[in-house]
Amino acid sequence: MRDYYIAGNWKMHKTRSEAAELAGALAAQLKDGKHKYLVAPSFTSLETVGAIIKGTNIRLGAQDVACEEQGAHTGEVSVLQLKDLGVRTVILGHSERRHIYKEDDELINKKVKLALKHGFEVILCVGELLEEREAGKAEAVCETQTAKGLAGVALEDLDRVVIAYEPVWAIGTGKTATPEDADAVHAFIRKVIARLYGQAAAEQIVIQYGGSVKPENAAQLMAKENIDGALVGGAALKAETFVPIAKFG
Ligand code: PEP
Repeated sequence: MRDYYIAGNWKMHKTRSEAAELAGALAAQLKDGKHKYLVAPSFTSLETVGAIIKGTNIRLGAQDVACEEQGAHTGEVSVLQLKDLGVRTVILGHSERRHIYKEDDELINKKVKLALKHGFEVILCVGELLEEREAGKAEAVCETQTAKGLAGVALEDLDRVVIAYEPVWAIGTGKTATPEDADAVHAFIRKVIARLYGQAAAEQIVIQYGGSVKPENAAQLMAKENIDGALVGGAALKAETFVPIAKFG
């Protein structure tokens, strides 16, 4: 059986003291939580948050990583530096990286392979734009982003890969995909994984939903057969909204 996995992406929010306050509240309030949890603060708060959640049931994640191990890459952060901070998971291919910073599937794939090589868990985000959905291309976009993002990833590393289906039109907009629509795309992504890695791998892989997940809609989304958790943005910034999502149901 797949375990539910609820992750909070704090994006470019919070100073270290604000991040520490939230991390402390989550550590206390999720102590008895039954699912798998992750928080991904900004790079600048990783060390602070890492010290607070050390030994708790909350994993430390980063929101991105460089595609090279080290070297002349001004402004980038390497896998070695993240490992040194105790980061265990990296979010890759987030729609803000794809669409604002023009990351393409080839670059994302390079990052995926490098992070896996260094033992990280990877949350690979995929999802269509509104115009792609309206043109009937949602599945094709998710198929391409999944297949290209995972190109060259071996089956034995797939247990450290999580897919986050995040329809771009639902991110930060307050519009959520209906549980039925999201489940249909999750089922489709599972089929893509089955084609690439076989049925057993497809049944095991965790597929999170992301896009305006809130306390009010979390349980209905999680009730769907193919939805195994959530990648949460806005509602992850406060304990009073993240905790009820993390303890949905
Ligand atoms: C996200 O950024 O991954 C996200 C899903 O954001 P929000 O929950 O704010 O839509």
